[in-house]
Amino acid sequence: MKLTYQPFELLLRHTFTIAKFSRTSTPVMLIRVGHEGHTGYGEASMVPYMGESFQSATDFLSKVDAAQFKYPFNFDDIISYLDSLAPGNPAIKAGIDIALHDLDGKLQNKPCWQLLDSDPAKMPATSFTIGIDAPEVIIQKVKENPDCKIIKVKLGRDSDKDLIKTIRSVTDLPLFVDANQGWTDLQQSLDMTHWLHGQGVLLIEQPMLKTDIDSNAWLTERSPIPIIGDESIQRLPDVAKAKGVYHGINIKLMKSAGMYEAHQMILKARQLGLKLMIGCMSETSCATLAAAALAPQCDWADLDGPFLTSNNPYKMPEFREGKWVLDNAPGLGIKH
Ligand code: MG
Repeated sequence: MKLTYQPFELLLRHTFTIAKFSRTSTPVMLIRVGHEGHTGYGEASMVPYMGESFQSATDFLSKVDAAQFKYPFNFDDIISYLDSLAPGNPAIKAGIDIALHDLDGKLQNKPCWQLLDSDPAKMPATSFTIGIDAPEVIIQKVKENPDCKIIKVKLGRDSDKDLIKTIRSVTDLPLFVDANQGWTDLQQSLDMTHWLHGQGVLLIEQPMLKTDIDSNAWLTERSPIPIIGDESIQRLPDVAKAKGVYHGINIKLMKSAGMYEAHQMILKARQLGLKLMIGCMSETSCATLAAAALAPQCDWADLDGPFLTSNNPYKMPEFREGKWVLDNAPGLGIKH
């Protein structure tokens, strides 16, 4: 088993602003694992607020002994091994896990979605995300929507209602709202959920601080639309903590340390009666296809990474009627 990697600066189409910061590119580590003439491709997308970087990824990779990855893969052992090397580092662990899943599919000559028990016919529509911006830029971005059937809006500032009104002036599409922990006042937040309900909003992500469990739970109990935990839910042990605090959780491979644990999180969440959203960071087609392989097991998808970036090193996967299309290619189905 051979593991190689390459740092890659993934450029964003637009400066991306959410409640707490702005940026124009994302450091990505492209990973390859080779075995018996097959190559598995993975990707670690290291958005700055998660704390990983080219340096931390390189440090972590220098500890990895690829000879530990014995085929046939036992992903439970693999994630335990990666966790034993260092805590944290979920994105670079995900990059390795994704590459091994792609390789696994190629060695078994089966698509990853099949190995993970997904039904491509149940693929949910993916949303197209619009950051916080001036009204004329928002309108321009809505017009650039690549045929997504849902728009996701980043809120969390005083101008939230104006931003929604601006979007409503140009589209009737259903909306997801992501407050990224930006709301603080309980009653104002509750009033906002009712107002947003009337505006065709389907769900609200992480309204309050991830550490403010009581406020998030209070709002969840009263909101007319589902409240989804994102920043507060990272890996498998966090899923049980969501019960009673949120209606559902947003799973992302770069938080969960990859596809194996994301799948475990989905199974656990379903057991607990939680709703499921699967999301992404700024990513290439590689990590998007990895998440898409699990998306049919979720209620909502926010997998717009490739639409928001301008130098995706892989071909754009097929996108039809607002949904990613899973084909029968072995592994993730990345096209070069
Ligand atoms: Mg979010």
